Amino acid sequence: MKKITLGKLPENNLVILGEQISRNHCSIEEIETGIFLIKDTSTHGTFVNHRQIKQTTFSKTDTLSLGNVNIDTELIFQILEKTEIPIGIKYDELKQQFAISQQFLKLKEVYDNFLKEKRKISRKGIFLKAILRGGLGMIPIVGSGIAELTGGVLNVNEKLNELNEKFKKEYICPCCFRFLGFEPFENLEKQKTCFYCKKKWIL
Ligand SMILES: [Zn+2]
Repeated sequence: MKKITLGKLPENNLVILGEQISRNHCSIEEIETGIFLIKDTSTHGTFVNHRQIKQTTFSKTDTLSLGNVNIDTELIFQILEKTEIPIGIKYDELKQQFAISQQFLKLKEVYDNFLKEKRKISRKGIFLKAILRGGLGMIPIVGSGIAELTGGVLNVNEKLNELNEKFKKEYICPCCFRFLGFEPFENLEKQKTCFYCKKKWIL
């Protein structure tokens, strides 16, 4: 069964710094599959859902504070899901990494939306150009209709430019904020690391 210890000493699985953190502050142990027990061994107290506890069950929806330090429960369970739980994980670094990963994963949606919008606009452009050329079995348009269609094509180009500019502002590294190019998200995901600042997006 899985177990993690939390506290100030580097011998803990999760090392948390703070004035109110004890050297060995508390432990969380799986007592039955999916059921976790948290035990307090601290001076300043362990709080589950803002109530001081000595020993109680602990789940993903509970909040946790050690002394006056709030701990992200999602991170705790992320560690507990590992097959082997390492010793000496620094909580502050983990939290920072977690925030970076969350932001990085949002880029998938940014990329997907970009492609979707681009296709939509391009399709309209192709359609307008085809009408202008008399394609699609349509009679070529003459007179003021041409001006309108040409305007439509120009409008399409403008929209594509706008879309590109918006994408360049949003498809950026969560660490150094540089534009990541028109690289598909799945390539970035495989790469895991920023090619500019070398920071890790995902572990
Ligand atoms: Zn970067």
